[in-house]
Amino acid sequence: MNKAGEFRRARLAKQERTMRENAKKLCLVAACTFLLSTMYASNSAFAKPDGEKPGQTVERSRVKKARRPVEDARQLFAAKKLPANLPASAIGSYANGCIAGANQLPVDGPHWQVMRLSRNRNWGHPSLVDYIEKLSDRAYKDGWNGLLVGDMGMPRGGPMPGGHASHQLGLDVDIWLTPSPDRNLTSEERETTSARSVIKVDSAQLDETVWTQNHAALVRDAAQDPNVARIFVTPAIKQYLCKGKDRHGADSKWLRRLRPYWGHYNHIHVRLLCPKGDRACHNQAPPDPGDGCGKELSDWLRLINRELPNESNPDTPEPKKPVALSSMPKPCRKVLEAAP
Ligand SMILES: [Zn+2]
Repeated sequence: MNKAGEFRRARLAKQERTMRENAKKLCLVAACTFLLSTMYASNSAFAKPDGEKPGQTVERSRVKKARRPVEDARQLFAAKKLPANLPASAIGSYANGCIAGANQLPVDGPHWQVMRLSRNRNWGHPSLVDYIEKLSDRAYKDGWNGLLVGDMGMPRGGPMPGGHASHQLGLDVDIWLTPSPDRNLTSEERETTSARSVIKVDSAQLDETVWTQNHAALVRDAAQDPNVARIFVTPAIKQYLCKGKDRHGADSKWLRRLRPYWGHYNHIHVRLLCPKGDRACHNQAPPDPGDGCGKELSDWLRLINRELPNESNPDTPEPKKPVALSSMPKPCRKVLEAAP
């Protein structure tokens, strides 16, 4: 081989090496570009604050989410105007459940009137309807001029679009601390009349110009029923009833059921125990032993006096996010889909 031939071959070999190296570099750049674009697409943390493409990526992911909307159980349950035609059964827990075979409390009884008829929330477990009817008779005999009944539950229970986190099992009822007038209220009056507060405007103490012995009798009658799990009341109501308690503890059973809580100064919230035999119904843990008239009550009174100016919790606030049907007890889907 001559020198010129050798030189040419060496040059060709060099060219080949350079091309191979360039190709490698190109491949590396291509691979990196691909990798980076994948990262951009999958993680908006890589997005440039003012970049166009990352913005588009976010839009795309939004569209993706919108295609799979959460089934909001509040809307689904509220849309059912009649109960599920199934045997009566409370399913789940007070703040996450539903009811099959609910009964409707008639809007007028001998000693009660249902308020806010437009809400269609005068439904509950047969045991709740029975409780309200009996309580209305007993309280009437004790001087209360008849019950004004607020929210019970929706025809199939479940989470409500407004107002409460509980009232889902057909075992909760709000009873106004305002006695029924001697006449039947019109539908419009039932929408627009408000329950009267029994506490003072500037303190959490009972307003003696509103609170009467008959109010006390109503709350006591409501709490003495053994089917009651809890009654939520403003702490001043419990304080009043604790003052008159039997010294030997004879009242501790029903006083224990009175639970001091935010709000509940113009209505009481009665919660019944799970009916016997309703195995899908979950009771709450019972309140601590004793009448609860000691430290627990004084702690509440202190707390509520301090917080009063900001008080805004007449019941547990409504959760902001949709309630996923999939997060509810499984049989509630059946209750929702059952024929009326
Ligand atoms: Zn309530």
